[in-house]
Amino acid sequence: MMKALVYLGPGSMELREVDKPAGDVVVHVLGSGLCGTDLKTYLKGHHMFTPPTVLGHECYGRVESATAASGFAAGDLVAIAPYLECGTCPTCLKGYGELCASKSFISGGCFAEYLSADAAYAKRGFFRIPRAATAFALVEPLACVLNGIGKLRLDGGRKALIVGGGPMGSLFGAVFEERGVPFAFVETNPGRAAILAGWGWKVLAPEAVPEKDYDQIVLTVNSADLVPRYLGAAADGGNLLVFSGLSRQDRSTIDPYDVHYREVSMTGSYGYARSHFVESLALITAQGARLERLVTHRLPLSRGVEAMGLLQRGEAMKIVLEP
Ligand SMILES: [Zn+2]
Ligand SMILES: [Zn+2]
Repeated sequence: MMKALVYLGPGSMELREVDKPAGDVVVHVLGSGLCGTDLKTYLKGHHMFTPPTVLGHECYGRVESATAASGFAAGDLVAIAPYLECGTCPTCLKGYGELCASKSFISGGCFAEYLSADAAYAKRGFFRIPRAATAFALVEPLACVLNGIGKLRLDGGRKALIVGGGPMGSLFGAVFEERGVPFAFVETNPGRAAILAGWGWKVLAPEAVPEKDYDQIVLTVNSADLVPRYLGAAADGGNLLVFSGLSRQDRSTIDPYDVHYREVSMTGSYGYARSHFVESLALITAQGARLERLVTHRLPLSRGVEAMGLLQRGEAMKIVLEP
């Protein structure tokens, strides 16, 4: 048996004893990041997660047991990709692995003491890491951010604006900082704004955003109303990246004038492909200490519900649960 934080339906989650998973590779989870998707599921439910189930998809751990065929051995430290594209369908071959319709998923969530996979999954989806550092809980969200960054044009003195300075927004900030791209945030939550400012990052109130000044605007807030607002705010020749997951029912009315006469484009990004995961892993291995400051809370699994509240109220950036 093992302890797991079981999601029982919107607003309900409980630490329970459940069966320990068995498989070719069994990993003892050391750290597991709490993500906006987990929060959204906990608060309102999600079509992909039917309760009772265990959430969490951003984790690293130590291999407890492994078959020889898996290529892993007990004691190996690994970062875990929660899903993998098939790599062979037309969408994958065009270079959009994140959109693959035949993805394979890790069975079981990360908010548990153990996780397992068959040898075939582990070979492509488990990656050896050099040390057990909390920053490795950021590999998956950073991979999603790198997918988004790949859709931007950042050369030639272009400036970026990140709308929403939560855990994802702050990862964009960390990458822009590393690449020498000038950037600022729009953040209305005073707690988050204070954390960002404490890191030396520029934070603007929405009404203080200069018109047609920022070239690359990243939307990390789930609000369809912000799409026309920031498409219009982008500089001539600029770009709006819709990074946040808007729902099927959302509608926005954009001004086509911005698209034609000002050559502003709009793009989106969703999840990651395996190549982004590999790129993210390399960045964290090289710069883990700098990125680790984005983790503001480390809490035991038993405080998972409290962690959801902290994230919801914007009192935390990245929270890592440590089973
Ligand atoms: Zn996530
Ligand atoms: Zn595919």
